[in-house]
Amino acid sequence: MEIVTRELKFSTRGEIDLVDITGDVEEIVRDSGIQNGQVLVFVPGATGAIVTIEHESGLLEDFKQALRELVPRGKGYLHGRIDDNAHSHLRATLLGASECFPVIDGRLVRGTWQQIFFVELDVRPRQRRVIVQVVGE
Ligand code: ZN
Repeated sequence: MEIVTRELKFSTRGEIDLVDITGDVEEIVRDSGIQNGQVLVFVPGATGAIVTIEHESGLLEDFKQALRELVPRGKGYLHGRIDDNAHSHLRATLLGASECFPVIDGRLVRGTWQQIFFVELDVRPRQRRVIVQVVGE
């Protein structure tokens, strides 16, 4: 079994920024040479998330609006007394910090309309790191 670990680095524009990382992740899988296994996409950080969603501008706006409605800002959260980003943490927890995809015959398997996105949920622009780990043979 082989393990290839890479990192993506990029900056975000603050709440709520969506960054399509599909091409970068697929390139890492291709370059890894691993034919069959899995690829993990993980963000170390409590106010970022990894999701899959269709890359269509209307839908991306719908997604942002749904997040605002599900977990509104400034609802008197307890964590808000410290740094006013409780809603960022809560949204990140609901979405999750990682996604895992099968790698079959050297390719990451996903649906045609299932792009991979990093979601910036913090209240300010950030430098982000996403770990991509391909495991298999
Ligand atoms: Zn916080």
